[in-house]
Amino acid sequence: MTDREPFLRYPDAMDTSCLRCERVVLEPLPSPDSLEFFRCPQCHFEYSRQKGKGLTDRWLSPISLALYNVIFEVHPGDVAEQSARAFLARRDTHNLPRMLKDIQDELARPRQNVRDILPNMVADEAKLRDYLRRFADALEQALREV
Ligand SMILES: [Zn+2]
Repeated sequence: MTDREPFLRYPDAMDTSCLRCERVVLEPLPSPDSLEFFRCPQCHFEYSRQKGKGLTDRWLSPISLALYNVIFEVHPGDVAEQSARAFLARRDTHNLPRMLKDIQDELARPRQNVRDILPNMVADEAKLRDYLRRFADALEQALREV
């Protein structure tokens, strides 16, 4: 695990622009002391920021849900297909095409340190991105077969 994460897009912790819209300043939301929450007035995506870290998606974002399955995994890529299948089994409660698109967008154009989305993720940033790639591939294939 490295101190310096390679995908940090916003090293300046004061930057509160939307990670998905061009130059849209986020609106602050009521937050606990330890975290700050924001919402984009344009795309309505919500974000959070821990003290001293960059902006990330807030819990319940599509990527956060995909990561939740592998918080304790040392090798999350190994269980990516299994994790995708778990979402496919609950497809009535999730918008899987939207989830797939959001993950693919993140992989194509990194917006944030995905490792910072949830506290205490075991795997490092590169392994979590590898997991998201495999997860998205499995999801895409399954959605095509439907
Ligand atoms: Zn936005």
